[in-house]
Amino acid sequence: MTALVRLDRARLAAALDSIPSAWDLFIDGKHRPALGGEVIERVAPGHGVTVSRYQRAMAADLELALAAARRAFDDGPWPSMPGAERSRLLLKAADLIEAKSDYLATLDTLESGKPISQARGEMAGAVDIWRYAAALARDLHGESYSTIGSNKLGVVVREPIGVVSIITPWNFPFLIVSQKLPFALAAGCTAVVKPSEMTSASTLALGAILAEAGLPAGVVNILSGYGPDIGAPMTTDPRVDMVSFTGSTRVGKAAMAAAAPSLKKLSMELGGKNPQLIFPDADLDAALDAAVFGAFFNAGECCNAGSRLIVHQDIAQDFLAEFVKRAKTVVTGDPLDPATKVGALISTAHLELVEGHVRSAGAAGASVALGGGRLASEGGQFMAPTVVAGVTPAMAIARDEVFGPVATVLRFASAEEAVAIANGVDYGLSASVWSRDFDTCLGTARRIRAGTVWTNTFMDGAAELPFGGYRQSGLGRELGRNAVADYTEEKTLHLHCGPRTAWWLPRGADETKSH
Ligand code: NDP
Repeated sequence: MTALVRLDRARLAAALDSIPSAWDLFIDGKHRPALGGEVIERVAPGHGVTVSRYQRAMAADLELALAAARRAFDDGPWPSMPGAERSRLLLKAADLIEAKSDYLATLDTLESGKPISQARGEMAGAVDIWRYAAALARDLHGESYSTIGSNKLGVVVREPIGVVSIITPWNFPFLIVSQKLPFALAAGCTAVVKPSEMTSASTLALGAILAEAGLPAGVVNILSGYGPDIGAPMTTDPRVDMVSFTGSTRVGKAAMAAAAPSLKKLSMELGGKNPQLIFPDADLDAALDAAVFGAFFNAGECCNAGSRLIVHQDIAQDFLAEFVKRAKTVVTGDPLDPATKVGALISTAHLELVEGHVRSAGAAGASVALGGGRLASEGGQFMAPTVVAGVTPAMAIARDEVFGPVATVLRFASAEEAVAIANGVDYGLSASVWSRDFDTCLGTARRIRAGTVWTNTFMDGAAELPFGGYRQSGLGRELGRNAVADYTEEKTLHLHCGPRTAWWLPRGADETKSH
């Protein structure tokens, strides 16, 4: 690779000026160091310098956090507060997040290597989600049944499920915690939150924000630390009622198995291998732009990445040539530069994994049409936007989640074949269909087994729309009007009025008499 990623050191120094590098745990309303005294250092993947130090929480710290969350749930007042009060507090939190969004975006950019312009967009999205959750907090309600008998009334109420373990990954640190926590809080739950140990700062910053908004102590507890140390026990502890997890399918399955003995409710947002189906009559200019965006957004470290381009054979050759031409122009570089579209990969180990996927694809008979490896850089780890062509559906590169800036290009001859390829992997998170023909769009979208199918667009979203996966992409849905209800249990109140018919009557009693 000849391209060199140059870093703007003055920009980095200015960003670091505004960043406190040391973060405490947030337990029972207080910031405090870990009992074991160990610290985790985060080196910025885009710059190669240490940007954060977190406390390494272990079992003893988790014990304090779980006890606080349990107490805050069992003793209140949070679960029994009127929805309107919870809503007001969530709105206040949203305002504070908005006021600090540049700062939070800088934290996420430094720790994850994502472009700053994108991180700012994620903060705006997160603020909107907190406000949506605040609105839903006032609308949580059950049902009544007056049709089950004239002397009976059925009332179904929703109660907060209890203590929720929230476990999040490194690719969208603040956005993903915002897809879970405000809804759990709106329902009246309490929580223990564990971000990825690589990108914990923006989530830890939430502690002070929630305290300033007036959240009672113990309702939210935030711990930085490793999966095996605290993530695993967060899925098994009997004081936890529900686990809301986003991460890899591999760890998600382990978390489900671990949660099974205590039969916790689970919400799982896992991996994806998302197809973009491009028919010959599509607006190809728009489809090409979306294909480049879908493959390289967040350096492909995105569960929703459009990593499989499935293109009709009549246009495949021209489409590939134009796709490569556009991919070459994507600005890859310093995450703090507002012009950057593709930043750094999360770690050297991950970069090696991604390169390994591309090498194996070559060995399996695919051809690398662009990129394929790392870029020389003045710090951090960057990979060139990569295009792998000549891919067949059976190849590992067409089936496994790569989680890097790697697009694969496949061909199809008929709509049936396109749908079969789209559905022929273990995942089912999202997909898109590109055509100007209504029947093609709707007919194909209905047959694809995925939680979201876009037509003539890609990776659009709104807090109102449910998000989640079919099959091995997950369990349950986040966002949407049921997002708060997901953190509740239903309770049936069966009300009886007037005399009740006896179950057993003594011999000789008048059995025709009505009771
Ligand atoms: P991981 O599955 O490795 O980790 C996710 C979280 O789980 C981290 O906080 C991790 O801690 C923690 N963890 C690790 N081991 C355990 C355990 N045994 N029990 C409980 N928690 C544990 O995912 P990544 O962070 O690597 O994120 C990338 C993955 O997430 C990708 O595969 C991607 O597809 C998926 N993802 C899915 C999304 C969706 O909505 N469908 C959205 C975003 C990402 P630690 O950091 O210490 O390992």
